[in-house]
Amino acid sequence: EPGDRLVIARGGKGGEGNVRFATAQDQAPRYATPGTPGEKLLIQIELKLLADVALVGYPNAGKSSLLAAMSGAKPRVADYPFTTLAPRLGVVRVSPAEEFTLVEVPGLIEGAHEGRGLGHDFLRHIERATVVAMVVDAAAEIPDPVGAYNTVVGELGKHNVDLVGRIAVTVANKVDLPGAEEGVSKLEGVSVPNVMAVSAATREGLDKLTELLYNELK
Ligand code: GDP
Ligand code: MG
Repeated sequence: EPGDRLVIARGGKGGEGNVRFATAQDQAPRYATPGTPGEKLLIQIELKLLADVALVGYPNAGKSSLLAAMSGAKPRVADYPFTTLAPRLGVVRVSPAEEFTLVEVPGLIEGAHEGRGLGHDFLRHIERATVVAMVVDAAAEIPDPVGAYNTVVGELGKHNVDLVGRIAVTVANKVDLPGAEEGVSKLEGVSVPNVMAVSAATREGLDKLTELLYNELK
């Protein structure tokens, strides 16, 4: 929590020098007390970002575009994989008094848990997210939306099974593109959690998505 303090290695106690024991009669006593040594530790500190909702998904699914469209964040968007090299955070305003934080985790591909692609380094950042939203490109053919979904779930599960249980929403993105409708039906057909058809490009469905994520969070 902000402001928390934690002692990891306690410092030593200072000794008392001879001046401390000086008296009028003996102004330079040959007496002093030694201090005690402080604790010495070699510590590795791992930073984990804190966010309420994590956007995960295959490269190019539109995670950065969604983050930009839903929050004030300005992540890099491009039509090639791995444009996002570090997790990006944004704040999503639900109402004047309500907000939540959203983090985009760089694309996960098969083998991410073994360090393939860039996903591995970043998976730990979503360990503390309350809600995981799976983003899929509903118009993609290779892999198709269900294939992309399954690949990413597989990667999440190999890293930390708890994360799979936190997938509360399936964001079927790019519904402005031809073929997306079929992709959405495919996803609905395999009973993945809460399929939300949206477009980061046209903003279609984004208000409903924000509302759903916020409710899941609560
Ligand atoms: P990320 O790798 O998941 O972060 O994906 P990006 O947000 O970088 O987007 C990958 C590509 O898909 C970019 O060219 C985006 O402009 C495009 N894109 C993202 N969302 C949409 C959308 O809703 N509709 C369309 N047509 N293109 C999108
Ligand atoms: Mg990105």
